[in-house]
Amino acid sequence: MKANRLALAGSFCWNSDCPDYGLIDHGNIVKYGRTDKGTQRLKCKTCGIVSVANKGTVFYGEHHSPKEILECLVMVAERNSLASIHRIKGIKEETVNTWLREAANHVEVIESLLLANYSLTRVQLDAMWAYVGHKGEKVDIPKRLIGAASGEALR
Ligand SMILES: [Zn+2]
Repeated sequence: MKANRLALAGSFCWNSDCPDYGLIDHGNIVKYGRTDKGTQRLKCKTCGIVSVANKGTVFYGEHHSPKEILECLVMVAERNSLASIHRIKGIKEETVNTWLREAANHVEVIESLLLANYSLTRVQLDAMWAYVGHKGEKVDIPKRLIGAASGEALR
């Protein structure tokens, strides 16, 4: 079985502290305005966490909650090294690297989730994407994704 699977963004609450965590189409997710780019935002009525609909998927792991994954991305954005993330959260560097690469395939969704739920700046987000660009040795992150992460529309 694969360690990481993909689930439709917004089809479930990704907060592992939520009583309705992971329940697909449970009725706890309601519409909550739109992002700057027009993507539907959603809110969990149960715990108040904000997510985004459509535009692909967010990822969650068998062993790690989406919240935990996003917290690691936040730590990268705050310029923690993968080594220090490993030390603090006990998650392997290669695992976080995999999440970063996956995140780069879902730039808008990931950014919306991070901006809606954590107080990150544009500069910190750019630092996170730059990290993917520099450290993803075996992976070729398309320039347009890095560009999109810098605020240009993805076309
Ligand atoms: Zn919830």
